[in-house]
Amino acid sequence: MRVLFLYIFISLMIAQIICAFIAFMSHKEIGRYVALLNLSLIPPVLGNFIITCATSYKLAMVGRYMFFIGIDFVMLALLSFTVEYCKDLKTGHKVPKFLYWLFAVDVIQLALNPFLGHAFSSELIYVDGMPYYRVVPYLWLTLHRLLDYGVLAALILIYTIVSFRVPKVYKEKYIVILVTMLAAGLWQAFYVCMRIPVDRSMIGFACFGLLVFYFAMFYHPFRLIDRMLTSIAADISEAMFVFDKAGKCVWLNKLGRTLTGIDGSDLEEVSKKLADIFGDVINEAENETLLRNVGSGDDTRYYSIEKKLMTDDHDRFMGSSCRIYDYTDEHESVEKRMYAATHDALTDLYTKEHLFSRIKERLETDEETDYVIAFVDVKNFKIVNDIFGKEFGDHALKCVADLIRANAVKKSIYGRIAGDTFGICMPVEHFNAAAMENRLSHFVVKQGKLEYSLLIHVGVYEVIDTSVDVSVMFDRAHVTLSRIKDGYKAHVEVYDNEIRNKILWNQQISAQLHNALKERHICPYLQPIVDRSGKTVGAEALARWIHPEHGFLSPAAFIPVFEDNGMIVDVDRHMWRCACEILKSWRGTHPDLFISVNISPKDFYFTDVVAEIKDLVSEYAIPPSALRLEITETVMMTDIEDKMKILEELRKSGFIVEMDDFGSGYSSLNMLKDMPVDVLKIDMKFLERSKDDNKARLIVENIINLSKSLGISSLTEGVETREQYDMLSDMGCELFQGYYFAKPITLEAFEKSV
Ligand code: C2E
Ligand code: CA
Ligand code: CA
Repeated sequence: MRVLFLYIFISLMIAQIICAFIAFMSHKEIGRYVALLNLSLIPPVLGNFIITCATSYKLAMVGRYMFFIGIDFVMLALLSFTVEYCKDLKTGHKVPKFLYWLFAVDVIQLALNPFLGHAFSSELIYVDGMPYYRVVPYLWLTLHRLLDYGVLAALILIYTIVSFRVPKVYKEKYIVILVTMLAAGLWQAFYVCMRIPVDRSMIGFACFGLLVFYFAMFYHPFRLIDRMLTSIAADISEAMFVFDKAGKCVWLNKLGRTLTGIDGSDLEEVSKKLADIFGDVINEAENETLLRNVGSGDDTRYYSIEKKLMTDDHDRFMGSSCRIYDYTDEHESVEKRMYAATHDALTDLYTKEHLFSRIKERLETDEETDYVIAFVDVKNFKIVNDIFGKEFGDHALKCVADLIRANAVKKSIYGRIAGDTFGICMPVEHFNAAAMENRLSHFVVKQGKLEYSLLIHVGVYEVIDTSVDVSVMFDRAHVTLSRIKDGYKAHVEVYDNEIRNKILWNQQISAQLHNALKERHICPYLQPIVDRSGKTVGAEALARWIHPEHGFLSPAAFIPVFEDNGMIVDVDRHMWRCACEILKSWRGTHPDLFISVNISPKDFYFTDVVAEIKDLVSEYAIPPSALRLEITETVMMTDIEDKMKILEELRKSGFIVEMDDFGSGYSSLNMLKDMPVDVLKIDMKFLERSKDDNKARLIVENIINLSKSLGISSLTEGVETREQYDMLSDMGCELFQGYYFAKPITLEAFEKSV
């Protein structure tokens, strides 16, 4: 029996050493205290071991000293461990200093016992026929015991209080220490009180040391983790269920209860309720996520169901969990966002991108039907906005959208391409140009008392090759619009070979422009401008293209193309330079003649007109007043303030600014007073529109008078007859230009004529 205990003692000591080492090496702060406690347990255990197997009085006494003094150190180590172990409670308590003193005194008095014999001695007895040196306690040993048991009792009290105070999940951590400490203490007290000779209670303390090591170093509060996970799961925004092996629900969270309507602790019904809502998916699903809709129409709810099978370390099935997430709100907001991204806010029609992609998809998938693409353009929409206000403009666009919607035939797709343009794709069999014409010619927008005949033009392109880009199809439908001559009578134009050729032509001349300018195939023709006495005072430079292949090209063949694609800038720059060259060459011969050049509205977008023109006149050293600048009214339709500034600057620099084609746009006479121009160019052709000759005459006369009163001189162009010349002269017009005097002619011809 003794031998068995000896083995136990030795194993426990080795275990303490190993634990102390591991604890000391660990990065945990408490490791040091645990290591100290484990090490402090070695002397008393060793002492106990020596006492147990001592064969002489002396050896037994050595064992006793080791035991008693060692126990003091155990208590001190236990105290400091306790302070650290309970640190989480933030009590701020420390080991009271006087205890250190008491233990110091105790250790000294025990150490003096060999000399004074005041604390204890040993007596030889025989236990089971073996000699054993039993301790004979005196007063001072009793004091020593009182101190140790007092401290132990205090510690037990502390752990008891703490165990009560901490939340339930933490109790385990303290109760285990408390119970083992109590057991070890009682075990020893039992030996002491009963004076049972062979004291083996150190086994209890040694085990306590090992338990402390485990709890302080490795213990994870699983109950705590469990609790926390449960409370996290209880509040997450998913319904959660845990099923056992047999598929019976063993736990569900708050949302799970709401979903299934289960209230109490009876969870038998959970699976059935889930099956009622979702069918058998929950039972049948394995590790997968499924999407399910429940209900119909506006009441549809959308769920994602994630099922997970749980297995243990050996891959044995333990049960399953199921998370059900109601993503109806997200679904709706995604739908809303999708709708907003694909629909125009004002008209509720498809956006351009969505329209194009829907059409592309349709053309690719529906090979049986032939389609047409219609480009719908609201004419002069800017004027509608300017005159009637943005609110009416928006209303007008909505009316156009409604018109499109109301007349949409089966299988048609339509949307808004940009501000005032719309697109439609419809089966060719439903396309009826005459019916469309009829609808458009009677289209009136009404709002309150306001009524306006909105002019809408539709360009139609029949889809022959579905591989062509949808945007190109719309471009083709768009270009057909340029063929609508009398916009008020005809509204619909269909893409045909003529337009196809026109597009080819546009591409061809655009590709050739660069070279034509370099080779000077594009050059100015000059049309004389005369004064009231019939004397030529200057000329307008008009572009002509002497094409090596197509011969003489008038501006109508190329200027609109380049105005459309922005290449007009290159033409104009070239023309300005040519004009400057001519003016320079005239410095000696005709220093008083001027040349008017055209400035296209697009030039203002792409170049710094002021800087370029100024640079040119200074490069050629000609007076700015010799280079007159013709700007069309339409320039003033956008960014008026900026444009005014530009014109002002040009005038300040000495240029004469002419307002070309006055009357062609929408600038009113009212605007004239603010317009920083020197000359007003009135085109006879704008007057020809009027049926009533008298009325036309009156208008011209008034314009001339008004401009005169504003200090602006007037120039009439397109003068073809002597009568017109006389009449305009009488009205007070100062300058004239027209076939009556001369057509635009070559520079040589012009120079000969002056
Ligand atoms: P525009 O600036 O209004 O030029 C006047 C046009 O009226 C010229 O046509 C001219 O030949 C024509 N014209 C002159 N007198 C009469 C007449 O008595 N009766 C009739 N029926 N027509 C007359 P053109 O040269 O064909 O030019 C057409 C338009 O092309 C010009 O109109 C101008 O807007 C544009 N253009 C011509 N050259 C250039 C240029 O270098 N740059 C820019 N940006 N545009 C140019
Ligand atoms: Ca002009
Ligand atoms: Ca003109």
